[in-house]
Amino acid sequence: MSKIPVGVIGATGAVGQRFISLLAHHPWFEITDLLASERSAGRRYGDVVNWILSDPLPARIANLTVQRADAGAARARVLFSALPASEARTLEPLFASRGHYIFSNASAFRMAEDVPLVITEVNPDHLDMIPLQQARRGWEGFIVCNANCTATHLVGALHPLHQAFGVKKAFVATLQAASGAGYPGIPSMDLIDNIVPHSYGEEEKVETEPRKIMGTFANGQFQFAEMTLTAHCHRVPVLDGHTEAVSVALARETTREAIIDAFRSYRGLPQELGLPSAPDPVVALVEGMHRPQPRLDRMAGGGMATVVGRIRPCNLLDWRFSLLGHNTIRGAAGGSILNAELMAHWGRLSP
Ligand code: NAP
Repeated sequence: MSKIPVGVIGATGAVGQRFISLLAHHPWFEITDLLASERSAGRRYGDVVNWILSDPLPARIANLTVQRADAGAARARVLFSALPASEARTLEPLFASRGHYIFSNASAFRMAEDVPLVITEVNPDHLDMIPLQQARRGWEGFIVCNANCTATHLVGALHPLHQAFGVKKAFVATLQAASGAGYPGIPSMDLIDNIVPHSYGEEEKVETEPRKIMGTFANGQFQFAEMTLTAHCHRVPVLDGHTEAVSVALARETTREAIIDAFRSYRGLPQELGLPSAPDPVVALVEGMHRPQPRLDRMAGGGMATVVGRIRPCNLLDWRFSLLGHNTIRGAAGGSILNAELMAHWGRLSP
């Protein structure tokens, strides 16, 4: 089978680089286009990128010439977007109107009423909104979003519990890695020896996106899940991997053993289909009260799993636990790629 050509918009940034690293040896996709701002356009990728990942930049990719994203053109029909939300707001619709299939990491269209916000295991049926989106907007292409990195891993842990017992309420306090702010991100003088509370809408995303994702899609509409979420978000001096301390109130009484079983047995369509980027297990359970830890656990399932530990009764709600997830892999590029793999499997990424 010949590979599907794909492009990365925002290719020089933290998420763009992660896309390149995950796509460089992908069995189904082949990078043909790298797009960024006019600052990088027209130059060899290897000369403009400040490569911050430990795996080497492949020579073939380094030799590609960066194209201007605002020209709204690319050879590949499938484009992974790692644009800032402000740029995504105008550029993603431009590409979709020209027939491109956009898998976006930006927040610009996540809450739009005709845009699927998808975690592949949780709500693949929301992708059925795409024909309605195309009809309403007059596009041949489409936009599919994946969630905020913190929200992604929160859902990774809440969805198994919601399926098994019903989640009524959740309280989450986050400790989010520096790479979540992009490159170069927060100045090191602000972050070293420090913790910075989030002030840019992060808490609202964590409180609303999971309800769209865990909600239903019927009669052409998304119905949000009935649950109350409250978030306290903080940036901490960790390179990669967001940690979240979670308390939940459940609709049904349960035991610690049943909760562990719900996490352990949780699987979705990507695992059933054996999609190339699907983690198995989806939720990686860790033993002991001192885990999960970012340095030790963020690469579970190749960075695609949500790691859960410290499951215990909660004095305020019913149960509490800690979770950890890689923010630029499952929380960004890897999540987008898994969505695209499902669409490719269904034959819905025709050239
Ligand atoms: P970043 O490191 O700041 O990278 C931004 C990228 O966008 C760069 O490639 C930059 O290209 C390009 N860009 C900026 N302005 C542009 C313009 N006017 N036209 C075309 N390209 C432009 O940001 P990031 O962390 O990779 O985040 C990318 C997106 O993913 C954001 O929407 C972010 O919220 C989202 N996200 C990030 C994470 C994470 O963990 N970092 C997780 C989930 C979602 P130049 O180098 O040419 O300026």
